[in-house]
Amino acid sequence: MKHVLKGDGHLSHDLDSHDRPPKDACGVFGVWAPGEEVSKLTYYGLYALQHRGQESAGIAVSEGSRILVYKDMGLVAQVFDESVLGTLRGHLAIGHCRYSTTGSSVWENAQPTLSSTESGGLALAHNGNLINTPELAKRLAPGSTRATTDTEVLTTLLAQDRSQSIDDAAAELLPQIRGAYSLVFMDEKTLYAARDPQGVRPLVLGRLERGWVVASETAALDIVGATFVREIEPGELITIDERGVRSRRFALAEPKGCLFEYVYLARPDTTIAGRGVQTTRVEVGRVLAREHPVEADLVIPTPESGTPAAVGYAEESGIPYGQGLVKNSYVGRTFIQPSQTIRQLGIRLKLNPLKEVVAGKRLVVVDDSIVRGNTQRAIVKMLREAGATEVHVRISSPPVSWPCFYGIDFATRAELIAGSLSVEEIRASLGADSLGYISLEGLTAATTIPADRLCRACFDGEYPIPIDQDNVGKYVLEAKR
Ligand code: SF4
Repeated sequence: MKHVLKGDGHLSHDLDSHDRPPKDACGVFGVWAPGEEVSKLTYYGLYALQHRGQESAGIAVSEGSRILVYKDMGLVAQVFDESVLGTLRGHLAIGHCRYSTTGSSVWENAQPTLSSTESGGLALAHNGNLINTPELAKRLAPGSTRATTDTEVLTTLLAQDRSQSIDDAAAELLPQIRGAYSLVFMDEKTLYAARDPQGVRPLVLGRLERGWVVASETAALDIVGATFVREIEPGELITIDERGVRSRRFALAEPKGCLFEYVYLARPDTTIAGRGVQTTRVEVGRVLAREHPVEADLVIPTPESGTPAAVGYAEESGIPYGQGLVKNSYVGRTFIQPSQTIRQLGIRLKLNPLKEVVAGKRLVVVDDSIVRGNTQRAIVKMLREAGATEVHVRISSPPVSWPCFYGIDFATRAELIAGSLSVEEIRASLGADSLGYISLEGLTAATTIPADRLCRACFDGEYPIPIDQDNVGKYVLEAKR
């Protein structure tokens, strides 16, 4: 295992740390393909999943006799280069890009995690968040780990059962784990993948000419030339080796897919449950236009996450669509802390209005969600300063009023603006002429998934996997220690 810590070991993605967008909790990728450069396939798979986690990245690889892990803080393209990938040879690999939910964002908590079994190593990568981590941690052998992440607890537990094969150990352990988990893991010869019984986070299986791929999103299959086979079922464990793909069920499926994947998290070119995310988002915009019509001259998105819904809103309302805000795509990826002068410019570092487009116009501004409201407040102010005569804000998700315990880091309830203010109070706080959120029913209908097969907890507070407040929280293991 090679350890290379960069600079201060931390990234500074958030120019305005008081108003971060929702953060996903990782992308996972696995490949079993003798004769292919599996570490390069994993690199490109992670590249396609970079939006799901930008704090650290890692790849584990095996040529049949030992597992090698390389991981570091930073983006996939910052962590790996040709020479590093050239040292990672083998016929199977797993990869991970992280946004931290349980456990600090430090090198030690980067994934894949590695643990030893009696017969060799076990590397594991996890998307999601467990909600009974302290209870699981009590079952670890004394001194076996100083884990501060749910993932490391899980890896150590899997590896410490020495009486049976890894897939038997997983089939026995996984039903005792609560929360959201889409997993890829491996020993020296075999690739495994598993998804929690609720299937909160996505996980798909793809086929290569000479092997198999497992990934968080279908977009990662596309980038490595794999064809989509199917979704890994909720409660399913699969094993991949030279005998092909074998499936076993470790729990009954009780599907509760994350509704927020459709709103914001997944890539628009990903397919969930047979329907393209982009198609769903455009439809959401149409519903939003029907639910919250307004007289205006131009519909503009908050780029880029508001774009598909803005297209749908414009199509349905007949109001022309235009680009009124230009996004600097790269500024949020800097390692350099902005100076005080730069920081005061705030939102302008990321978004700048096109004055000639917005001046003198009544605007509809479409965004995907409001977390704390600072970004939208700054956008409304900026558009008025650029000459807009009216600014009507339309949001393609219902108010986010509750925190997520299944792998998305929004904020605490107290920090969520919709946790304490009414829609009218939020409108006044943003300084908008009007504000309209899509209804929960409208959003659900646009996904074409029945409501009872979705998690919608951040919108309605009904958590499908019951939460024990004492056992959740980013620093739950560090705090208990
Ligand atoms: S609480 Fe919200 S973000 Fe979290 S899994 Fe449920 S729908 Fe998704």
